[in-house]
Amino acid sequence: MPAETRHGLSRAARRFASVGLFLLLSLLVTHKALTASSDQINQWLTDADRVKSSDYTRFASLLNQVDVETDSLSSSQRQLLAFLRAWQRNYTGEFDQAIVEFKNVIDHADDEVLRTRAGAAMINAMAIARRYSEAYSYLDLLVERLPQIGDAKARDQILHVAALLNNEAGQYELALDYSAKLLSQSLGGRGECMARQLLVQTQYELDQLEPDGAEVSQAISVCERNVEPIFTNFVRVFVARRLIDRHQYKEAAALLGGKYDEIQATRYPRLTTEVDVLLAQAFFSSGDIFQAKAYALRVVDRRVATEVTDPLVSAYKLLYQVALQQGDERTALSYHEKYAEADRKNIDDVSARSLAYQMVRHQSIANRLQIETLNKQNQVLQLEQQLGAKAAETSRLYIALLVAGLLMVFLWAFHTKRRQLHFRRLSQQDGLTGVDNRPHFLDIAQRSLDECRRGSRECTLILFDLDHFKMINDRHGHAAGDIVLKQVSAVCRTYLRPNQYFGRIGGEEFALLLVDCGLERAQLFAEQLRQAVAATNAAAGLDGVVISASFGVAAASESDYELRQLMARADAAMYVAKRDGRNRVVVSHPDAVPLRLGRSGIVAIVDDARLTRP
Ligand code: GH3
Ligand code: MG
Ligand code: MG
Repeated sequence: MPAETRHGLSRAARRFASVGLFLLLSLLVTHKALTASSDQINQWLTDADRVKSSDYTRFASLLNQVDVETDSLSSSQRQLLAFLRAWQRNYTGEFDQAIVEFKNVIDHADDEVLRTRAGAAMINAMAIARRYSEAYSYLDLLVERLPQIGDAKARDQILHVAALLNNEAGQYELALDYSAKLLSQSLGGRGECMARQLLVQTQYELDQLEPDGAEVSQAISVCERNVEPIFTNFVRVFVARRLIDRHQYKEAAALLGGKYDEIQATRYPRLTTEVDVLLAQAFFSSGDIFQAKAYALRVVDRRVATEVTDPLVSAYKLLYQVALQQGDERTALSYHEKYAEADRKNIDDVSARSLAYQMVRHQSIANRLQIETLNKQNQVLQLEQQLGAKAAETSRLYIALLVAGLLMVFLWAFHTKRRQLHFRRLSQQDGLTGVDNRPHFLDIAQRSLDECRRGSRECTLILFDLDHFKMINDRHGHAAGDIVLKQVSAVCRTYLRPNQYFGRIGGEEFALLLVDCGLERAQLFAEQLRQAVAATNAAAGLDGVVISASFGVAAASESDYELRQLMARADAAMYVAKRDGRNRVVVSHPDAVPLRLGRSGIVAIVDDARLTRP
């Protein structure tokens, strides 16, 4: 192949390549220019949402623009578009389809606010489509969720639809409540416009609307400021109705006629048919039957096949009346039949609406009652538990109180007993020496003697009296005498064994009763005591004082167990001891044989071997 040709070929190839590149680049640029950015789509959707009820034409065209970009929509954009399309279907009267699409949005949208808005719009569509039970049921659910919804737009929607539906069910007080809430949360905004329109509507229903009133002018001004021609003109609809009720037909016709183009531009059938029928009524009542017929026919022409509305019923009635006035009886009859049928359906519809409302209301009241009953039962159970706990606590308290009471009674009884014993003991004791006092000693002695008599047991009495005691008192004082008395008592007590009783029976006189002790042993015992008393000299520590005592011993058997006799015999023996020189023991019985004389001249009756303690 020649080189020239080769060069020519490669030039052609280069040109071909650059043309191809250019074309590719142009395609890319064109594609870029043709494809809208995500921001752009967002803007379109937001604008459509904003103007949907104020500028329907723009709304529809914006949605069409977004539709072209279907493939490049994000998921949230797709969901918003679906909501707006459902809204559009509702607006144009395709209610059943709108409801299906709203449900789809509710089921699939990620955004809570969008789901709520779809819910509110769906309820509105259900009411218009006469699916009242569903509408009121969903409304109940939505209203219950209201406190959790923060988005203002979504809250506006819920309150608006709640006011609207209650109005339709004749629950004007509730409708007013919801309107007032809507008004308070959305001052100056679209919500205020919606609320004020509803207030005007409710006032009309309650027969309180003043066409020149502040409510009307406020509603119109706030709705116009928010560019809401539908709400603005619905306010005018109710004012016109009021004017017609008051036979001010011309004023009504002027009010609506003046805004007719604006109303038509909304392309909202509910509004346009309302306005057409009101104009027809106004013209008919003021005698212009041609105009009346024209407006009434518009209503009939624009009716939705399945829908029977108040305007349609009124339109048929007017057409029938117009035909009658024109003498066209056939047409009159035909319209009358249509009027009668539409009226019946409409009345059915009104009762269906009210019935559905009441049913849902009852259902929700029943549910609430059930919940309240359950709550009450819960409360009762809780109260019962608390009561049980309280009762247990109370009985524990009672038991504690009882135990404390018993303890106190026991302590009190114990204390009293102790005091009683203490006082009794005090009353039986000699205050100075602590030994039994005279009354107590005599009492014990009497009882012991009685017992010994019954058992024929031996028993002896020893009496002793300190010698020259007066002298001790005189020389060393009364206090020293007391000390001697105490010491002598203490020494004697150390000799006491069971069944032996010791008492102070006079100033310096003491007595001992020895049960189960014979005279011999008693005499020995007395001797031991005598020595012990005489030995207290040193212990007393009183210089120049000789302490001694004289003892008399007597056996009960010789006195026939008579205390007085026994005492007398012992006393007599003691007297002998005194008389015979003191500091000695004398036994009272006459047969006593002295064995030997003691160191200090004491009469002893036993030998040394028997000098043991009893
Ligand atoms: P006798 O050997 O004859 O018994 O002579 P006595 O001095 O012991 O007898 P008397 O009856 O003349 O005196 C007894 C005294 O004992 C008189 C009285 O003041 C005194 N006396 C009596 N009771 C008490 C007392 O409780 N304390 C003191 N310190 N002296 C008392
Ligand atoms: Mg004496
Ligand atoms: Mg005496």
